[in-house]
This record gives sequence, structure tokens and C-alpha cells, in this order.
Amino acid sequence: MFNSIGVIGLGVMGSNIALNMASKGEQVAVYNYTRDLTDQLVAKLDGQSLHPYYEIQDFVQSLEAPRKIFLMVTAGKAIDSVITSLLPHLESGDIIMDGGNSHYVDTERRYDELKPKGISYLGVGVSGGEVGALKGPSIMPGGDKDAYEKVAPILTKIAAKVNEEPCCTYIGPKGSGHFVKMVHNGIEYADMQLIAEAYTFLRERLHLEVNEIADIFETWNQGELKSYLIEITAEILRKKDEVTGLPLIDVILDKAGQKGTGKWTSMQAIDNGIPASIITEALFARYISALKEERMNAENILTGPENVGQELDKNEWIDYIRQALYMGKVCAYAQGFTQYKMSSELYGWDLPLKDIALIFRGGCIIRAEFLNVISEAYQEQPNLANLLISPYFAEKVTDYQAGLRKVVCEGIISGISFPCLSSSLNFYDSYRKGISNANILQAQRDYFGAHTYERRDLAGVFHTDWQ
Ligand code: NDP
Repeated sequence: MFNSIGVIGLGVMGSNIALNMASKGEQVAVYNYTRDLTDQLVAKLDGQSLHPYYEIQDFVQSLEAPRKIFLMVTAGKAIDSVITSLLPHLESGDIIMDGGNSHYVDTERRYDELKPKGISYLGVGVSGGEVGALKGPSIMPGGDKDAYEKVAPILTKIAAKVNEEPCCTYIGPKGSGHFVKMVHNGIEYADMQLIAEAYTFLRERLHLEVNEIADIFETWNQGELKSYLIEITAEILRKKDEVTGLPLIDVILDKAGQKGTGKWTSMQAIDNGIPASIITEALFARYISALKEERMNAENILTGPENVGQELDKNEWIDYIRQALYMGKVCAYAQGFTQYKMSSELYGWDLPLKDIALIFRGGCIIRAEFLNVISEAYQEQPNLANLLISPYFAEKVTDYQAGLRKVVCEGIISGISFPCLSSSLNFYDSYRKGISNANILQAQRDYFGAHTYERRDLAGVFHTDWQ
């Protein structure tokens, strides 16, 4: 009997994806280039539906045609090396899926290299971490649609479900699936940073205890802020350190790591004239956090405001911060979805924005209640220029901007840094203005470089002899 699918790469994600597939009734061939991980995985299951192979040729030959091979290996050179080892054993019509966080440009190159050989290459964004991989991730497959249709029965089966609908949909051609996953991660950076800033306000400005803040996050998670990240933050704040008895959060070193997907999101936005300021601020916040030793030194030299402001009414300000956080999230998601829209037009991908919002509702790290409303906004207006001007969000941000303004102002006065909250407000205030100050920039450019300018009242290109 042949296996219905093969998984290569049995680390954290690959082993759980394989177990997920096996639990859904697939016969899964598993292979890892070092033997130990394969043995560890097979020991977890009775072996009925998980079949280990130790030679790549045996692994490939165990698969039914067209062969469906799911790679879950470290992104970068490892993917190319696995493809090279597979190629001599594959036949035209076989399908390789890359489920890792590959850069979408690499995915497009691999797609182009494999196409003439008759091998279909799908870049499959997977979000949900190790639990999601096991219980049901959000899946973003891109590549040829006919190849997707051959693997769709398996991918939709292993995906998370919301209202019995799978959190997996065909995204578009070539590298679009990995692109959507990349920007998803960029949005995740912004969302996480916004939550960290809300926490900072509650802790440093309202002087609340960690447990009280956990209560607030739990309450928020029952309303329109309901999301996985808010939920886990409440749980994180409850956790005590076994060594000191302190809240664990207080002993965790404040130096943020990153693996590159947020940076790629910002770089793609910068390269293509797409305003992704909130995601980029979140990325820079991680970079600044990494300068721990410098910051410790600077603390002894640089001062903040002397007067940190008056006592604030606790309940009133908890609600302002809730509004600020919600509006910050709306602005961040609005930028992320604009990045999808503008890139889709640029690359001719026709990304299904309504469906992308729907598949983010389950399994993935940025799953959130308000993705339902985001999806509805694109359903009502598929060409919506920006989520902020959809009727629902326009009304929401009209109501909540006062909260965001108060929190950002109070942060500035108190010397607390709010890179993403203030960036959200700046984006909002720039985007809602029909007339900007770029006329000054254009005049300056024309003054020193004869770069010319256009006029508001007359067609054509103008240059002034300024001196
Ligand atoms: P792990 O480090 O746990 O696993 C990586 C796998 O790749 C291992 O099986 C490893 O084998 C294999 N590998 C590494 N180098 C090579 C090579 N040169 N040739 C063949 N195989 C190789 O990583 P994860 O499972 O966490 O991540 C896998 C992919 O999924 C990455 O792209 C990651 O970014 C992405 N991802 C991860 C998520 C997470 O939450 N962890 C979430 C979503 C996506 P060995 O150990 O034997 O070297």
C-alpha cells in the first residue's frame, strides 16, 4: 500500500504536522535527514499510519502518485538541499509543498526552477506554532491552482476549523502564500508590541500590580479585543517564577528576538512604497530592546521628564487604554491588509482579502474576533482602499481616537515610549488629511535639486527659479 503524503523535516513543526495528518486518517511517510528525530516521532505513535523511512529514495517510492511531499525544514539553504536530494526520484506531476517560513522571493525562484521539470511547487504559509501544527494551523497555500486542488483535501482536513469551515484557502499564484504568511507575521509583530505598550501604561503609569493587569486582559478578552494574543498575555502575567516566586514576566530579560519575517515585511513595504510604519516601528522596538547593555548605561546618563504627571482615575484610564489598543490594532491590521492589496495589484495576484481574514480566525497567532468584521468589510467592498474607511471601522476609530490621543499624550508627558501606539495615531492623522505638508518637501526638492513640482490648480510640471 502506498502512503498518501510524505513529510520531510521532523523538528517541532514537522513532527506535529505529521501527527496531525496521521490523526486525520492519512497514511504518512516521514523522513528526516538525521535518524534520531524520525525514531523519536515514530515512538509517539503506534506506527499504524506513520511510516518512517531512512533513505530518501525509499521515502519517495512509498508515496502514491502524484506524490505529495510536505517540507517542514529550516528556511533557506536547507530547502534547496532537500529539493536537490528529492529531484532524482520525482516524476512529472509530483507536488512539493514548503510549509516553512521561506521568503516568498525564494519560493518564486524554486517554483520557476521546478516548473520546467513538471514538478508543482506550492509555498504553504503555516501559522499556529507547535500546538497549531498538531491540532490545526491556519494554512496559506500559494502556487498553481490545479496542484493546490490535488492537496486541498489533506490541507483542509488538517487546518483549524471555525464554524466547521477550514482555515485554509487557495491564496494565489507562485509565492503569494508565503507572502501572505510573511505579512501575517509582520502584523503579529505590531499586535504584540501594541499589547506590550498597553501593559506598560497599566504598570508604569497607573501603577497596577501584575495580577490586576492579568484581570484586565482577561476582561478585555471577553469583548471586542478578544484574541489569542490577549488571552495568552493574561496567562503569561499569571505565571509565577519557580525560583523567586516573582511574576515570571519580571525575571524575563527584556531583549526581544526575531527570525526575520517582520524585517522582510518592512523591507518589501519600503521597496514598494507601501506605508507599513506600525509594523516597522514594532521591528525597530525589538532592535532597540536588543541594545540592553547600552540602555542600562544610558539610564545613568539621560533623564526623562521631572514631573511624571498627576494621579489618573484608574477605571477611566483603563478604558482609554482599551480604546487605544483597539484602535492601534485596527491601524496595524489596516496597514497589513493594505500591503496585501497593493502587492496583489503590483504582482497581479488577485489576493482574496475577504478569505484571508477568514482563515486568520482560527489556528494562527493573530486570530482575533475582529477578523470577522475585517472580512465583512472586504465582502461589502472588495476594492476597499483601506480598512479605516470601511463604515464599521470609520465609526469605531471616530469613537476611540480620543482614548488613543489621551494615552499617547500621557505617555509622551510621562516619558514612556509608545512606538506602535504613537505610530498608529500618526498614521491615522496622516491618512485622514486630504492636504498634507508634502508641498514643503516638493518646494525644497525643487529649490535645491530642480526636481520640479506639480500644482494643485494647473496641470503640468513646474520649476521655479527660487533664488
Ligand atoms: P526545527 O528547528 O524544530 O526543525 C527544523 C527541521 O529542519 C529539522 O527536522 C531539521 O533536521 C531539518 N533540517 C535542518 N537543516 C536541514 C538540512 N540542511 N537538510 C535537511 N533537513 C534539515 O524548526 P521548526 O519545526 O520550528 O520550523 C520549521 C519551519 O517552520 C521553519 O521554516 C520555521 O520558520 C517554520 N515555522 C515555525 C513555527 C514555530 O512556531 N516553530 C511556526 C510556523 C512556521 P535536524 O534537526 O535533524 O537537523
